[in-house]
Amino acid sequence: MSYKFLDLGEVNAPYAVEIKECLARVVDSGRYIGGEEVSGFEARLAALHGLPYDTVIGVSNGLDALRLILRGYIELGRLRPGDGVIVPANTYVASVLAITDNGLRPVFVDPDPVTHNLDTAKAIEACGPEVKAVMPVHLYGRVCWSPRSADMARDKGLLVIEDNAQAIGAVALCDGLFGSRMSGTLGDAAAFSFYPTKNIGAMGDAGVVMTRDKELAATVRALRNYGSHRQYENLYAGLNCRLDPMQAAVLSVKLPHLAEENALRAANAAIYDATIGNPAVIKPLYSDQGDCVWHQYVVRVADRDAFRRYMADNGVETAVHYPVPPHRQPCYEAYSSVPLPVADRLAAEVVSLPVSRCTSADDASAIARIINRYVGKPLVFQE
Ligand SMILES: *Cc1c(COP(=O)(O)O)cnc(C)c1O
Repeated sequence: MSYKFLDLGEVNAPYAVEIKECLARVVDSGRYIGGEEVSGFEARLAALHGLPYDTVIGVSNGLDALRLILRGYIELGRLRPGDGVIVPANTYVASVLAITDNGLRPVFVDPDPVTHNLDTAKAIEACGPEVKAVMPVHLYGRVCWSPRSADMARDKGLLVIEDNAQAIGAVALCDGLFGSRMSGTLGDAAAFSFYPTKNIGAMGDAGVVMTRDKELAATVRALRNYGSHRQYENLYAGLNCRLDPMQAAVLSVKLPHLAEENALRAANAAIYDATIGNPAVIKPLYSDQGDCVWHQYVVRVADRDAFRRYMADNGVETAVHYPVPPHRQPCYEAYSSVPLPVADRLAAEVVSLPVSRCTSADDASAIARIINRYVGKPLVFQE
């Protein structure tokens, strides 16, 4: 038997007929920039999050969504180049690229080794007056925000910019204010990515900015379109970061199936959680409450190369998210001496198991049993 990590053709197969029809519709429409495909998708995504249609701005990809949010705040005078932005040290590099691209300063914070996420309240508490924003990253699909973080961000006057690239459809669990709020609606603005491997993926690049801040929304709308809010008038020296109507059409086909896609992942995560029992393999914190949409199911092992070789020998493809944290990348050498031991350690230990719709329940059980037969050094948990 062989178990693929992910096969995008297979992911899209259930939607292929409808996708081909919708692409033909775009071809026939003669409208290849903007138009109803884009505004329709924006409105559908907003509605899914219980928001008015004009809170979502379709953009070219997730990185550009983050870039445009930060650039928008700079244009509005709410951030200034040089300001600090709290960001987890164990994120995908794009979170950080958006910060540095705007002349802002990443303030790397070590994650919690159990949730793999930032303890945002602790991070905010520790930050100095030069910090003006915090970027919670809902890594692997797990919501990273709490009422306490929200209170502290408000007290410190920080902007809260969610990197929601991996967590579309996740809900924050806390009572009261956070009753059933979805990731992407927890802060001041959020970036979504529809990169093909994400829980809802386009057939190319796509992303959105989501914000209830009307000023920011108008600014981002202009910035994505050369900085122009009406034809031939450039309020800002903007960019071309528009959402492609073909991608918007594809996403409109897939979006109604978000809950089903996330449920398939959750079912596999539940099987892994119930079946994997091996002292050499640390499972992720488990929850079936919808606060994690299992973009990745990430375990930790002491000798990752040996574990991955063992899995490959047993026909199981695995992946690593991510082997090199941003502060260890050549482009961020300036940050290489910041002590971030948890991020460094996670980067050496994490392994992602197949969890998408390409993995059936039987596959997940079989993979879990293969893991249970692995003989490796136990990983002693230590902070
Ligand atoms: C995918 C991803 C991004 C970037 O999205 P793109 O659409 O690939 O530009 C940003 N942050 C995180 C955490 C991601 O996983």
